[in-house]
Amino acid sequence: MTNRRQFIRNASLMAATGVWAANSNLSAAPLSLSNINAAKNFGLQIYSLTVNRDDREFSDNVPAGLKKVAQMGYSSIELAGYNDGKVGSATMSEFKKYADDAGLKILSTHVNPPLRGYSKENIEQAKEFWKKATGDHAAIGCKYIIQPGQPQTRSTEEVAYTGEAFNEFGKIAKAAGLIFAFHNHDGEFLRVVPGGTEALPRARGFGRMPEGAKMIYDGMLEATDPSLVQFEMDVYWTVMGGQDPVAYMKKYANRIRVLHIKDIAVLGESGMMNFQKIFETAYSNGISEFFVELENYPGGKQFEGVKGCADYLNNATFVK
Ligand code: MG
Repeated sequence: MTNRRQFIRNASLMAATGVWAANSNLSAAPLSLSNINAAKNFGLQIYSLTVNRDDREFSDNVPAGLKKVAQMGYSSIELAGYNDGKVGSATMSEFKKYADDAGLKILSTHVNPPLRGYSKENIEQAKEFWKKATGDHAAIGCKYIIQPGQPQTRSTEEVAYTGEAFNEFGKIAKAAGLIFAFHNHDGEFLRVVPGGTEALPRARGFGRMPEGAKMIYDGMLEATDPSLVQFEMDVYWTVMGGQDPVAYMKKYANRIRVLHIKDIAVLGESGMMNFQKIFETAYSNGISEFFVELENYPGGKQFEGVKGCADYLNNATFVK
């Protein structure tokens, strides 16, 4: 449903389209429906369309799928599935063309390194991997390159070394004009101890903590250089980790610069996420990159769920 504010916004854009058409003989693109719907600023993590392997609607026709995404009101995308110069079966430049044709900006990418964790033994291999991945994404004008999964961090020492490794990847990204960032799940809100061999069970967080116990996410924030490494906070996984994303955003305003907007399924339906507070805090921190993420959608039609998320944001008066 289109609310009044959105209607006025759309109406004024349609008026602008009319002026364009009246004053120009150029056949160059008038504002399309996708441009009109893109009046708000939020993007989509495309994993949301590939997560269900039985639902091949997107994978079988990426150009058409991206146009559908734009028409729902998404203005940008974050890639997933990068592998050796390709995203799915498309080359980087092919995918860029599909996104351009749909009017979607590729702002970010999730890149999975082939390493379980970082150590002095594999750091050179890791740097080579990030160098190649960064170069491939620089070529298509991507802004962020993001590690989406938690590296092995079983002790405070491993957390500290991971931070050092992130700084190195941040230097590589920066040299290529990108920003390296880390995306969390819930496991980063467990605690580790010096010399530990695994994270402490969550229940320990409510009792007496062992000497030197530290939350992995906090350790990553402290061990990374703000000029080299940023954080993409997944607000849903932060809540699932027993933490308040708004409190983190306030405490680390200069570190958390991108958000994953996610709920159990379609945004807003669970009632457990305070998206109003999340967006208000994000805007006051100057955050402008938001990516919707949806896991397997009940019923198996990912596009339906992705549209439901866009409708929620388009109808939310607190989303700009
Ligand atoms: Mg996420």
